[in-house]
Amino acid sequence: MAEKKVHRGGCHCGKVRFEVVGDMSKVIACNCSICAKNGLWLTFVPAADFKLVSGETALKEYQFGKKQIHHLFCGECGVESFGRGSAPDGSEMVAVNVRCLDGIDIAALEPAPFDGQEPLMLGPRPCSTSCHGRAWPAHPSIHGLRRWSRAGSSGQARG
Ligand SMILES: [Zn+2]
Repeated sequence: MAEKKVHRGGCHCGKVRFEVVGDMSKVIACNCSICAKNGLWLTFVPAADFKLVSGETALKEYQFGKKQIHHLFCGECGVESFGRGSAPDGSEMVAVNVRCLDGIDIAALEPAPFDGQEPLMLGPRPCSTSCHGRAWPAHPSIHGLRRWSRAGSSGQARG
């Protein structure tokens, strides 16, 4: 069962702090150019489930490719603790770097590989929203993340 609860996290120096509600064990390890270099392990939540507690002014933005994803990192310590973007259905999403969560047991996580390098046809249609030029987690093989890929066709597909 998914365990949804409030998690806290932030950057290294502490300027950027956030709270996020969700099951932080649903993680992907993407092999795209920026995830690979940053070592990002991400989980995705609706923007409404994410609250930036502090650090708004410390955040710097980096974009590349189609510039659809806002990679946000701390201008002081350089850590990208989260990013903003949209799900295939257009809803606002936040990608949380689970490595930045307080007390997270990284060794206990089992990230699902996500191929952000190869051109993929994800779901019934090619996704225009992407983190790397490809879709955010809409791939049917990423267990636990299915409801995002279904949100467009079946409305509020929660749980
Ligand atoms: Zn920082």
